[in-house]
Amino acid sequence: KIRVRYAPSPTGHLHIGNARTAIFNWLFARHYQGQFVIRIEDTDLARNVAGGEKSQLDNLKWLGVDWDEGPDKPNPEYAPYRQTERAKLGIYDRYIQELLDQGKAYKSYKTEETLKAEREAQAAAHQAPHYVYEYAGMDADQIKAAQVKDEAAGLKAVVRFRVPEDHDYQWQDIVKGKVKINSKEIGGDWVIQKADGMPTYNFAVVIDDHLMEITHVLRGDDHVSNTPKQLMVYDALGWQAPKFGHMALIIKAETGKKLSKRDEDTLQFIEQYRELGYLPEAMFNFIGLLGWSPVGENEIFTREQFKDMFDETRFTKANAKFDAKKLAWVNNQWMRAEKDRVMPQLIAELVKAGLISQQEADQQADHLAKIIEIAGVDGIKATSEIAPLATYPFFKLHGISDEDKAAWLDTEAGKQVTSAFAKAAAALTTGDFTAENLMKLIRQLQTDLAIKGRPLWNPIRLITTHEVQGPNLPEILAVMGRDWTLKNIQETLV
Ligand code: GLU
Repeated sequence: KIRVRYAPSPTGHLHIGNARTAIFNWLFARHYQGQFVIRIEDTDLARNVAGGEKSQLDNLKWLGVDWDEGPDKPNPEYAPYRQTERAKLGIYDRYIQELLDQGKAYKSYKTEETLKAEREAQAAAHQAPHYVYEYAGMDADQIKAAQVKDEAAGLKAVVRFRVPEDHDYQWQDIVKGKVKINSKEIGGDWVIQKADGMPTYNFAVVIDDHLMEITHVLRGDDHVSNTPKQLMVYDALGWQAPKFGHMALIIKAETGKKLSKRDEDTLQFIEQYRELGYLPEAMFNFIGLLGWSPVGENEIFTREQFKDMFDETRFTKANAKFDAKKLAWVNNQWMRAEKDRVMPQLIAELVKAGLISQQEADQQADHLAKIIEIAGVDGIKATSEIAPLATYPFFKLHGISDEDKAAWLDTEAGKQVTSAFAKAAAALTTGDFTAENLMKLIRQLQTDLAIKGRPLWNPIRLITTHEVQGPNLPEILAVMGRDWTLKNIQETLV
């Protein structure tokens, strides 16, 4: 029975990288009919932010990721699901005591100043930073005496794990294959319990993964260096470790650099895309291809398809490229596929941008839908982009610029085209005012006047829409209708 988990620290909004971890664990569980657990890793009190947990979970739900167990869905066998609550129950203290009793961990009273001085000395001697064991060569009584003295001096203890010397930690990584890290690379005895009594991440994660019977730990590449620490805790407690998989680092396509939460120019939180009007299906689709690849060339998949296709042997070892352009393309594909669902969102954007009133939106939904179809869901990457694109016909025309007028209307050709078009358009009856007929009419002008391309189209666009660019003109004019078109022509040609 497969049990996997997503273990967010509630330090902020859901990041693309964390969303990927959640999505692949979810796929893993759902593909094999296993269980997917949410555990909140909130022991680093200084880093927790109010609302962080809620925001993370809301965004997961929005992505279509659900869970079998979590803080809101406790299974009494494994609850609670927040590490601070588990700490209150003494769950970690019990194992810390066990390690202390066995001499596999010890209380350490070194002050910040001492630690800093040691690090500086190591740097000066070109040594990698490492913890210096303060009780070297002492017997149990001497250690006890030193600790009693420190305690009496009012120093606060942390508990450190006694790292075995020169020991290779290795595992068969689901993504990376065989990984081997020697205990020398760990940097010495590390803290498992802080002075405030809270366990550290690397310790608590082991206790919880074990007690929650997690079978596979799938997480980001940045955790590889943590794995040997976790393996030594499993060893020390005589437990069997789960299988590990570390998914490829996510890098920015343009720079090749690691995607950094501090890089404010790159949108990288799910919330940000959600606000822009990206579809959850598109986000899931895009993220599902970060560091994992399906068989074949297709790149557009539903959650269901991802679930069916999931195969833990198809994670890629190379860095995963975060390409915002590709994400936009994926979203556009989804918007086209889901037009009926997207349309109300697009109309809402027009109201939000003040281009139409709510009343117009309600009364003219079908008409607006037609315009939006023509104006092109095709050209935009998110619903929020419809407003700038829709310079007309959602509102009054905004006038013809002097440059456009001089370039296209005041010329000899411009005058010929506009008067001929005005006459021919007026000759069409309301029933005949179709895109097809308008197209025919413009083609006829092209032959009659021997003018083509922009000198033909731009004057017509200008007198009807005040723009030299825009969606398919005959189609837009047909949807807007004869009266609207002729009125605009009249007003601009006087
Ligand atoms: N709380 C850790 C994080 O947010 C989880 C890491 C893990 O999956 O072990 O990165």
